[in-house]
Amino acid sequence: MAVRLSKCSIGNAEAEAAAAAIRSEFLGMGNEVKAFEESLQKFLATEASVICVNTGTSALHIALAALDIGPGDEVLVPSITFVASYQAISATGAKPISCEILPYNAFIDVEDAKKRLTSKTKAIMSVHYASDSSQQEIVNAFARQAGIRVVEDAAHSFGSRKRNGELTGCNGDIVCFSFDGIKNITCGEGGAVVTQDKVVIERVKDARLLGVEKDTDKRYSGQRSWKFDVRRQGFRYHMSNIMAAIGRVQLTRHEELFSKRKSRTQIYLNELKSTSGVELLKLDYNNIVPHIFSIKTKKRDQLKEFLQDKNIETGIHYMANHLLTYYKTNYSLPYAEAFAQETLTLPMHPDLTDEQILKVCQAIKEFSKSNY
Ligand SMILES: *Cc1c(COP(=O)(O)O)cnc(C)c1O
Repeated sequence: MAVRLSKCSIGNAEAEAAAAAIRSEFLGMGNEVKAFEESLQKFLATEASVICVNTGTSALHIALAALDIGPGDEVLVPSITFVASYQAISATGAKPISCEILPYNAFIDVEDAKKRLTSKTKAIMSVHYASDSSQQEIVNAFARQAGIRVVEDAAHSFGSRKRNGELTGCNGDIVCFSFDGIKNITCGEGGAVVTQDKVVIERVKDARLLGVEKDTDKRYSGQRSWKFDVRRQGFRYHMSNIMAAIGRVQLTRHEELFSKRKSRTQIYLNELKSTSGVELLKLDYNNIVPHIFSIKTKKRDQLKEFLQDKNIETGIHYMANHLLTYYKTNYSLPYAEAFAQETLTLPMHPDLTDEQILKVCQAIKEFSKSNY
């Protein structure tokens, strides 16, 4: 049996909840979505509103659109991220401006971002790579000074805490989560926009339902608007009751799911800390709920193949987006390019057994002995 890179941890309770939502014969956006949003808000212990949508990518897109970001505008974003961050920006018509990363945690390098600020810059999208957002305050301070908005791509970091102990998402400008099939909690597919900005809240609520004004409250009670106005571009981005029902169960399991991710990460850290040729990232491990576990190594492609031969799946998070044809820059970003060459993601999910992790670490040490 292969050691899987990532997977959901899902069981009977989620299946029962999804089945109950189906049997209710109300599959679209309704009371389950409202209940999920309320429990997310309670979990985050925040005054901010939580608005659920169908994917993390649409959360990012709809948040940017609510800020009136569009053609002619620029959004600063680190080169090392899932291409979803870039697609969300370009979907608005705005241009993603690729920025350098910090080599030890892949977080956006604010000093580099500063150099790329122009009169067209409307926002900065920071990415909580491997769940770490400990440098978010530096981004926020820069954005305040520059007069631009902050959209946090917190797809990796649901349940993680900042250095001051607060949960990620509880008080950012706009924070976007993903609940896709392999994230810290899952709905199957899903996402959320979290913000206290009243204009953004109203716009996102309407925009997820094709821009139909004030339809959200009707949907929660099984109704819908038949006579309405539309004043802005909308999208078909609402969450369904089936997805929300799965998410509600996952959220009740958060302690179990999160502590498993944390304890598995500790095994990796202990086993690999003095393995030559392996560089561990410097993350705030006490506070994060790791969505992925990546290392850096010079012989990445050889190690990837070596592990594949032993039936161990690995990943690459991520390629450098500024080298993709659609997002090609006329400048280079040496740290991002080196990171993309050296990063290797090891198996990480709650169902991983101690034996499986030790097998992965043994294999890496074996490779290290004969290669470094
Ligand atoms: C998963 C992910 C997204 C997008 O979320 P989806 O729910 O899959 O659309 C965006 N950014 C990052 C960094 C992600 O890992």
